Amino acid sequence: MREPLPGIRQHRAVAAVTVLADRFGRVATDLRVSLTDRCNLRCTYCMPAEGLAWMPQPQQLTDAEVSRLVRIAVEDLGVTEVRFTGGEPLIRRGLVGIVTEAARLNPRPRLSVTTNGIGLDRIAVPLRDAGLDRVNVSLDTLDPARFHTLTRRDRHADVLTGLEAAVAAGLTPVKINTVLMRGVNDDEAPALLQFALDHGYQLRFIEQMPLDAQHQWDRHEMITAQEILAALEPFGLQPDDVSRGTAPAETWLVPGHVDAAGEPARVGVIASVTRPFCGDCDRTRLTADGQIRNCLFATDESDLRKLLRDNASDAEIAAAWRVAMWGKRAGHGIDDPSFLQPARPMSAIGG
Ligand code: SAM
Ligand code: SF4
Repeated sequence: MREPLPGIRQHRAVAAVTVLADRFGRVATDLRVSLTDRCNLRCTYCMPAEGLAWMPQPQQLTDAEVSRLVRIAVEDLGVTEVRFTGGEPLIRRGLVGIVTEAARLNPRPRLSVTTNGIGLDRIAVPLRDAGLDRVNVSLDTLDPARFHTLTRRDRHADVLTGLEAAVAAGLTPVKINTVLMRGVNDDEAPALLQFALDHGYQLRFIEQMPLDAQHQWDRHEMITAQEILAALEPFGLQPDDVSRGTAPAETWLVPGHVDAAGEPARVGVIASVTRPFCGDCDRTRLTADGQIRNCLFATDESDLRKLLRDNASDAEIAAAWRVAMWGKRAGHGIDDPSFLQPARPMSAIGG
């Protein structure tokens, strides 16, 4: 019998419960799995032009290791939703196999991918056949030249093709994630919403967060939810009665429009900075190198890769995961003078 992990004994009461609870009564049921820190774009708000020092391959979890941790999360820890992200998850060779394994779990979790859309035209059908339910595609501009400036790659057409392929494959509702930047694409909010309405995509604006590798985020420069909503005034947005629950996006109804499923069209804003939703957060995060992060902005991590590679049992791994989540802070504290940006950038955490 192995020695209990440090810190487990004092959390016996928690360990007896089969959920990922924290001290503030939140329960994490939504797992974000980063499959790689690498990417084929270089979005300016995410990483520098030259890229980053990528994670060495041996440090990255193997496909089998990822699948084992997803199984433990779903079958032993009450996770009901699994989203694969990165970096760019579509460049992970084993993605279809990892989705296939996750879709076999009992109870079957809801499965989605967040992607920049490049290559989705080729892989949308295999992903759907593997059991993927939905995709979120990131698109910050409708202008190919701007896209090139913003992502430092000339791939705008590929993203549009990817979006269409996702709908054709039935990976719906297809959501679009958009980050607006002052003086770059902040004049495009109405056009992007019209584009989403015309194609039956659900658009969500994300406030820019201090998670860029270059540490250049500036609170006074970011486009706020209030500014986004002001720009969308011509659409006559109406309050959405559907409860937000634990979803990060606050949504509004767009009168006179329906989505692809015939439901009233909606637009969302994820105001992580100006209207934090930490009190309702239900996320737990696994990095590509097997670290649990209990928050996007956490400054510490819990090493499950070492446990995996030291032949720990499922019960030991589950217990360590519970301990990691128990320590989650009440909020991200971006507005606190003592706030420290995490060492890992968004692309290495998994957005
Ligand atoms: N490469 C994939 C993509 O772009 O969708 C998945 C990973 S990316 C890190 C996930 C999401 O995080 C994208 O929608 C991206 O726009 C967003 N993102 C990246 N850096 C951000 C930042 N500093 N603030 C807010 N959102 C950010
Ligand atoms: Fe790549 Fe996504 Fe970061 Fe853009 S936001 S550089 S697509 S990881």
